[in-house]
Amino acid sequence: MQTTTATLAVPMRDFLPGLKARAAELDYPVTPTARGMSVAMYYGTLEVFEVDRVTTVQITSKDSVELLHLRDTLDWHLDQAGLKHCITWARMRAGPNPANLAIGRVERVMQISPSFTRVRLGGDYTRFLDGGLHFRLLLGPAGTGWPTTDDTGGTVWPGGVEAWHRPAYTVRKVCPEGSWMEFDIFRHAGGTVNDWADGLRPGDEVALTGPGGTGLTEAPWIGLIGDETALPVIIRMIEGAPAGTQGVATILVPSRADVQTVRTPEGIVLRWAFRDEGATLIEAFRATEVPAGPRYVFFAGEKGEAALAREHGVALGLKRGEIHALAYWTAH
Ligand SMILES: Cc1cc2nc3c(=O)[nH]c(=O)nc-3n(C[C@H](O)[C@H](O)[C@H](O)COP(=O)(O)OP(=O)(O)OC[C@H]3O[C@@H](n4cnc5c(N)ncnc54)[C@H](O)[C@@H]3O)c2cc1C
Repeated sequence: MQTTTATLAVPMRDFLPGLKARAAELDYPVTPTARGMSVAMYYGTLEVFEVDRVTTVQITSKDSVELLHLRDTLDWHLDQAGLKHCITWARMRAGPNPANLAIGRVERVMQISPSFTRVRLGGDYTRFLDGGLHFRLLLGPAGTGWPTTDDTGGTVWPGGVEAWHRPAYTVRKVCPEGSWMEFDIFRHAGGTVNDWADGLRPGDEVALTGPGGTGLTEAPWIGLIGDETALPVIIRMIEGAPAGTQGVATILVPSRADVQTVRTPEGIVLRWAFRDEGATLIEAFRATEVPAGPRYVFFAGEKGEAALAREHGVALGLKRGEIHALAYWTAH
């Protein structure tokens, strides 16, 4: 286990309500401890207590990668709450690379269908073989180098974190030895990654952080509905479903030419829907018959569609934990 602590220059009573509200939103259990309270999060545990009237936060994870993920998450929430300046992390170690950074080189760039480019990176991706399915691609200011670690274990972003574009992507495949991984980029107009992919050549260095996000689901019935950006995660959820899983999946793509071959286990039906034939993601969800009983619905698409999907989930009587309707991108 890996642990680090931080002190917060605010009384515990100013910090706890926001933390509890956020934990409730995200479905994280909150329990009292001998010295304060703890929140069981996806990547570890966060305990809050007071020492000599100073609010102390201790985070514990199974390894340094997950610890850094948890720390970044807490930093992000404090930033959102306007409290980022109040936190001081304990000194840990300085090092050349953050624990969650993976630097590799492009081995291949393949145009697998009109709208999708597959990138294969060679490097050490063993830690992506299980756990979270996603990562963040790091596109930073030219010539500044990759992020490093300061003496509290935090990430130092050359040029400042705001100068970095860090969109989330999904690991499509990792070879069994972990020496290469692939991801699929949906090519949409106006995207930073779109332009970056145009210039990508074998041998180019590519950095990413991860893994992150949720892993595979074990629900006996799954309903998966997603657009181009969720194609990789839905295919992974289908291919990684435990034997005997029942379910139905719909993937929305621009046209029939973007259909991919998927090894679909018995019990799961995969349908494709096409934008050029007038299909929409929310209609695909509304057309999905969701059974009673143990079930899990995963929906991912544009932010507005995810909001509609949450409403539809409520109308279907889906409870917390039975549905995740996620915004994978935002239309501007
Ligand atoms: C957990 C997670 C996993 C993801 N996995 C993948 C993946 O494996 N493959 C993948 O292609 N995407 C994936 N996405 C979506 C991807 O992160 C976003 O589409 C992101 O905005 C791409 O960055 P960009 O540089 O292309 O565009 P940005 O610079 O973020 O945005 C530029 C412009 O493009 C528009 N835009 C962004 N996405 C789309 C879109 N899909 N269609 C149309 N316009 C768009 C924006 O509205 C904006 O106007 C994932 C997202 C999440 C949250």
